[in-house]
Amino acid sequence: MPARGIVSVVERADETELHGAGLHEVGPGIFAWVQPDGTWWLNNAGAVAGDDGVLIVDTCATEARTRRFLGAVAEATGDVPIRMAVNTHQHGDHCYGNSLLPDDTVVFGHAAMREALLADPIIDGCPPMWRPVPDWGHVTRRPPSVVFTSELTVHLGGRRVDLRHPGHAAHTPGDVVAWLPGERVLFAGDLLFNGLTPLVLMGSLEGALRSLDWLAAFEPERVVPGHGPLATASELPEILAAHERYYRFVLDAARAGRENGLTPLAAAQVADLGEFAGWADAERLVLNLHRAYAEAEGGEVDLLAALGDAVTWHGGPLPTSV
Ligand SMILES: [Zn+2]
Repeated sequence: MPARGIVSVVERADETELHGAGLHEVGPGIFAWVQPDGTWWLNNAGAVAGDDGVLIVDTCATEARTRRFLGAVAEATGDVPIRMAVNTHQHGDHCYGNSLLPDDTVVFGHAAMREALLADPIIDGCPPMWRPVPDWGHVTRRPPSVVFTSELTVHLGGRRVDLRHPGHAAHTPGDVVAWLPGERVLFAGDLLFNGLTPLVLMGSLEGALRSLDWLAAFEPERVVPGHGPLATASELPEILAAHERYYRFVLDAARAGRENGLTPLAAAQVADLGEFAGWADAERLVLNLHRAYAEAEGGEVDLLAALGDAVTWHGGPLPTSV
């Protein structure tokens, strides 16, 4: 069992560095791995245990954090082996740890997610946009081996998991949610940031806005956002409404900025964050404005230039505790 090795490595890891992460059972045999405080590179992940195997929903950014997550899953699920995994999208905090999954794990993902991970330069060495510069540890690119573009259903013994793409770009081009219709649990990936600033730099502001009704239509009882605390059915409407207000705020700031001939950075500097000022990673306004401008003008986003502008807005490298 690879899990035994994983547990022993975790015991030697620096526990303070991994502070606060925990596995929460959100349904019978359905687990959410929540990493406070959910800021840059600190994602949520999950695991679904069936009779004969475990499906992992996303891994983590670093070797240490992924080993900790997989060790906790092994403890919670006993000797049920990991058979499958799915990545909700291409970002490294959700997939760099794929290479630590058992070798025979079948990894699913959107076709666009696979292409993006294969082309991702950050796994080879993180640019100094964050402080401290994340150390991924020993991880290598492990893209999905089974890809799809619309939906795919996985059966884990008697348990059904629907992997669904919203039909358009939102947080990224290849977003996927994992939906358990029997238990009404939704792993939303980064279509939802609960209490933190959402990010659409690599996706679509209009698409992210449209994805909110699509998410609501699942009518989940429990929601695992890509970042931030878990949510219940009664909390979801306000979480979705807050995303909508934020996306409309970014669209308005982009419209005003373009009318006044401002760059995305300058538009961010004159914008009043208002109710969103308290959300962590507020500098994502700059990144989201870059995407809004590109969507309005039909261009592409220069990702490194956009990140450089976010660092300028913040006044230095972006804080992370990964
Ligand atoms: Zn993401």
